[in-house]
Amino acid sequence: MSADAQTKMQFLFALRSKGVTDSRVLTAVEKIDRAEFMQGIFAQRVYEDTPLPISCGQTISQPSIVGVMTQALNVQPRDKVLEVGTGSGYQAAILSQLARRVYTVDRFKRLVTEAQAVFDRLNITNITAIATDGSFGLPEQAPFDRILLTAAAEDPPGPLLAQLRVGGVMVLPVGQSDAVQNLIRVTRTETGYEYDELRQVRFVPLLEGMGKD
Ligand code: SAH
Repeated sequence: MSADAQTKMQFLFALRSKGVTDSRVLTAVEKIDRAEFMQGIFAQRVYEDTPLPISCGQTISQPSIVGVMTQALNVQPRDKVLEVGTGSGYQAAILSQLARRVYTVDRFKRLVTEAQAVFDRLNITNITAIATDGSFGLPEQAPFDRILLTAAAEDPPGPLLAQLRVGGVMVLPVGQSDAVQNLIRVTRTETGYEYDELRQVRFVPLLEGMGKD
């Protein structure tokens, strides 16, 4: 086996050992090469199970956390999904393998443009990337079957709860940005919302307004 193939296999083992067992999620992770979303000096560490810096002072999430969040979201093939926090575009690309359509938004225009260029290069055609403040969701495309936040809010934002379809699921980190946060899953029922706590995580904060870049 080539060194490259071996590194990639270790990458998948790391995900399994962190509890990512859903075969559709693992297949998506196998198909989407994280290296496509990283440039510069950190690119050589792309198959390590660690978050890494990207443009605009942001981070590409830890792969096992991408796996855990994607699994918790339980995306179905006909789903319309909203991701808040495009970042590198890696998480959106994983979602694109599982859903019918993915809308991904970031407050940095530059990240959206860079991620869109990678989607184009990989011929991924079911992602729409938009530069906007995702705290307000994306009302013109609502409701969504699934919503994923990859930046931490103090509480689930009201507009996002409102844009979740009945029966829909939202996964997000909640808590103060400089402390340990809780990854939670919100399910919208006919009568309200059900919440469950999944695990502790650490994400960059969900900030209001557009970024400078
Ligand atoms: N999902 C990304 C990692 C995201 S890091 C990946 O796969 O690489 C979190 C991202 O959330 C950052 O890019 C940050 O700019 C974005 N973000 C923070 N607050 C936001 C807001 N209010 N609206 C949209 N994006 C936001």
